[in-house]
Amino acid sequence: MNDLPKHKGLRSQLVKLLKEKGIKDENVLDAINSIPRHLFLNSSFLDHAYQDKAFPIGANQTISQPYTVAYQTELLQLNKGDKILEIGTGSGYQTAVLIQLKCEVFSIERQKELFLKTKKALPKIGYVAKKFIYGDGYKGLKENAPYDKILVTAGAPFVPKALLSQLKIGGRLVIPVGEKNQIMTLFIRKSEKEFLKEEFDAFNFVPFLKDVNK
Ligand code: SAH
Repeated sequence: MNDLPKHKGLRSQLVKLLKEKGIKDENVLDAINSIPRHLFLNSSFLDHAYQDKAFPIGANQTISQPYTVAYQTELLQLNKGDKILEIGTGSGYQTAVLIQLKCEVFSIERQKELFLKTKKALPKIGYVAKKFIYGDGYKGLKENAPYDKILVTAGAPFVPKALLSQLKIGGRLVIPVGEKNQIMTLFIRKSEKEFLKEEFDAFNFVPFLKDVNK
């Protein structure tokens, strides 16, 4: 499947909409403008790829809405070369945004079907992550810690301590917290023991699940 002028046109309309909704980070907008989101959806949803909506990607999961991806990425305040831990690889679209922004990405997914599919598909379209892991994001990934930034793309009933502990001093964790809907929450690690917490808008994520067999 190709990236055609029609797709590029739809993408620039999407970027315009994201700006209207309040996304300001030009690097984030440029990344969204350049990544062919239609390649991350099942072909039956191709027509929907550039609408600002979440869509099914299999295993009862969804590709996050572009606005949500932009919002979370903006909150991370990425710098080139940042080492990122992403929880919830899903379709890999958010992973591609982080890679496009020149970050080193370690990504964890607990649905085997999605893990296998994305691990194979993402490099094929030119986005190479440092590592894909099949496992439980609640534990983070200690062997490569600490991280400059950690991003959770599923709705977390609570903030896992492991994730806070795997953050560099000065690092940022962006995590949607809540059961039914979630408050986008940012933690900045000020020192070994001190974290600054800031809350933002409410969102609706699929749940951050604990039991790998569910
Ligand atoms: N960012 C991705 C997926 C968003 S949906 C995209 O836009 O395509 C959230 C993802 O988190 C799903 O793929 C889900 O399977 C995954 N997830 C849920 N609980 C998890 C856990 N404990 N560890 C790792 N991934 C998890």
